[in-house]
Amino acid sequence: MMEQYFALKREAGDCLLFYRMGDFFELFFDDAKAASQVLDIALTSRGEHGGDPVPMCGVPVHAAEAYLARLIKAGCRVAIAEQVETPEEAKARGGAKALVRRDIVRFVTAGTLTEEALLEPRRANMLAAICELRGTIGIAACDISTGRMELEECASEGLGAALARLGASEVVAPEDWEGAPPDAIPRARSQFASEEGEARLKALHGVATLDGFGAFTRAMFAAAGGLVAYLDHVGRGTLPFLLPPVMRSGAERLAMDEATRASLEILAAQQGGRQGSLVAAIDRCVTGAGARQLAEDLSAPLTDAPAIEARLALVHYFHEEPLLRADLREVLRGAPDIGRALGRIVAGRGSPRDLGQVRDGLSEARRIRDHLQARADRPALLEELLPSLGGHGALVDLLSRALVPSPPTERGQGGFIAEGYDHALDELRAASGNARRAIAALEARYRDETGIAALKIRHNGVLGYFIEVPARHGDRLMAADSGFTHRQTMANAVRFNSLQLHEEASRIAEAGGHALAAEEAHFEELTGAVNGAREAIAATAAALARIDVAAGQAERAAEGGWCRPRIVEDCCLEIRGGRHPVVEAALARAGERFVANDCALSPADRLWLIGGPNMGGKSTFLRQNALIVLLAQAGGFVPAESATIGLVDRLFSRVGASDNLARGRSTFMVEMVETAAILAQATERSFVILDEVGRGTSTYDGLALAWAVVEAVHGANRCRCLFATHYHELSRLAETCEALSLHHVRAREWKGDLVLLHELASGPADRSYGLAVARLAGVPARVVSRAKAVLDKLEQGRAQTGGLAAGLGDLPLFAAIPDEPAEARDPLRERLEALDVDALSPREALDLLYQLKRDAMATGD
Ligand code: ADP
Ligand code: MG
Repeated sequence: MMEQYFALKREAGDCLLFYRMGDFFELFFDDAKAASQVLDIALTSRGEHGGDPVPMCGVPVHAAEAYLARLIKAGCRVAIAEQVETPEEAKARGGAKALVRRDIVRFVTAGTLTEEALLEPRRANMLAAICELRGTIGIAACDISTGRMELEECASEGLGAALARLGASEVVAPEDWEGAPPDAIPRARSQFASEEGEARLKALHGVATLDGFGAFTRAMFAAAGGLVAYLDHVGRGTLPFLLPPVMRSGAERLAMDEATRASLEILAAQQGGRQGSLVAAIDRCVTGAGARQLAEDLSAPLTDAPAIEARLALVHYFHEEPLLRADLREVLRGAPDIGRALGRIVAGRGSPRDLGQVRDGLSEARRIRDHLQARADRPALLEELLPSLGGHGALVDLLSRALVPSPPTERGQGGFIAEGYDHALDELRAASGNARRAIAALEARYRDETGIAALKIRHNGVLGYFIEVPARHGDRLMAADSGFTHRQTMANAVRFNSLQLHEEASRIAEAGGHALAAEEAHFEELTGAVNGAREAIAATAAALARIDVAAGQAERAAEGGWCRPRIVEDCCLEIRGGRHPVVEAALARAGERFVANDCALSPADRLWLIGGPNMGGKSTFLRQNALIVLLAQAGGFVPAESATIGLVDRLFSRVGASDNLARGRSTFMVEMVETAAILAQATERSFVILDEVGRGTSTYDGLALAWAVVEAVHGANRCRCLFATHYHELSRLAETCEALSLHHVRAREWKGDLVLLHELASGPADRSYGLAVARLAGVPARVVSRAKAVLDKLEQGRAQTGGLAAGLGDLPLFAAIPDEPAEARDPLRERLEALDVDALSPREALDLLYQLKRDAMATGD
């Protein structure tokens, strides 16, 4: 057995090997150690190898999916080795001791899942293959759960951004390529051959040329070759669902690099997870497919005004029609995820239930089409989508006639083909039904004949049908002429067979076997029919998803009073009453209100420098404007009273290192690398937000860098930019930079406390509120007043000599500052604090209370 195991393990490579033994998948050696850790199951051992016991653990086959899910989540890949012959076949082949043959039937990896239980309904699951060809990087990506496939190419600097956009759960790359990301799965270089890739795609889609799908390049084909080869390997020769590739070009999409995506928390919050992200705050989709489409829209917003307007018009249409929207969403809510059901069927992993889902989803789509078609004034995008919703008449009809209303997930048991679809099948079922009835009649007759009222005919998996009587009646039926043959004696029952029972049972078994075979044949024919219409079904799924996104965006807009943005070509950004959707929602949960703010950038005033106290709302303001741009270009309404958005080609967001400790890896170096990327890439059409950049180092360095960055952004990149800073000194830049203006978040001191108004105003911040913020944060009063003394001295010194520390010489030492004044202490309070209440009797307590009250009245005035 070990020999077979090692051979399979060699094939499995670095995947965990699930080795089928009876009702279990067993793991051995290091695989067993790793799996038992991740799954928290017992590690045992079995036999020995090289003198040492062999570590082993196992999972039951029927529960394997749940275990697989956990292993995949933990980043493992698994090879499934099944028994590919029965023990009888093995014996016939190789004698009594022959080992059952096993083969790896499938690899389960994060990027190649189709199972409902292993996939997240609201997230696409991308697999990407990347490689370099003569200095250009080709990227091929697919979501095999729905068949989507796209090809693109980029320069090597753009790889990180492209991968960040795709968010692939698995990436494969040539093993000898040094530019591959560290977590990429290495594959043989020979698999990334462009001719082979092109040929595979042509064969897959039955075309002589791929020109009809797009102007693909060699690098893209090379990556596609690597992708298809990997899918081939993982599926052991069965390719999953792949739609014709779509060509992606960087220019059609709003470019955002990885740092920007992370900082804007588009699909995941910085601490990880969807909660607190942009998508979580705006997603009102009622279907998984809609949510996946929305996530894709947000990760790759458009740059083309007509395409954006088309989406906006659809959102607008549903926004103006709340009743239609409500009806539509109600229907969509019940519609199954046909895209993913189709993905399983095409991959050969479909179930009767998946067929049922396709049937129900397609007929819902037709209903939706009829509903929408009955209305006038439809926007162009809807008009374009409607035809995809219908057109499956014959298939829906076939599936409706063929399948029972809710088909099972298991196909081995049969029972999914509806009555009336196949007369031969109906007759087989009738025959076994008749035999069942005959058995019931037999039971009644035997009771009569034997006079044993407790006699029963029962069934189990081992004996099949049998007659059972209580033990005390057993002897009576044992008689040779009774017509019964003994089968089994239990503690309190005896079991028999009879000729008639045997006959009826065989009729059931035979009819059942034929019926199962008939259902199996129908299953093949139905999946074939679905397979034949796969591209049209995928188009229906995509159209439903797009409609769900638009209706969901309209719903969100109606909920929050959002507006339709105006998209223009000039380099402006005029937002009235803008809000941050995530911060606003968090404040609302705490019962607080968000203060809306305006932003007005134009070519003549394109760089805003924003000062003001910590916690004043600078970062929030910066981000809300970036998010509004992103939402608008994704084709949705925006959280503002009005918004005019000059199309943005690239969006950058940077947060100074010291403000960004949560990210852990952030250092001043990272901050500077990320800033350098902006200076190299931002164009006049770009929008940049810089939050406390330069803060990650000592004052003078940081200030100098911030100064130089602002100058460069203003003079060289000439992009629209919001720059939040705590350096007052930067205000001086307003004197030399003509398109720069000064702004601040307002605060007011009230009775010695700082009140943050979260309101943006023009002009420089008048003073630093650092000390007030410190007090707000609970820094002891004596430390704050000491800081105030230091600050006064510093400012005095700078006024006289221009040097920052010049005035510090005659500053009295810290210890010389008096401690809290004695009268601030409260003797009554101190006595109470010193009191041991448990040590007092009730009487003593009462006396003490009188005493305290007397003292209080004596000291008060
Ligand atoms: P800064 O960057 O100026 O230090 P932040 O933008 O991080 O300030 O905001 C600090 C906190 O103030 C936020 O977490 C939020 O609770 C609150 N806040 C920010 N902007 C607003 C606003 N416009 N309206 C209401 N509260 C706000
Ligand atoms: Mg901040």
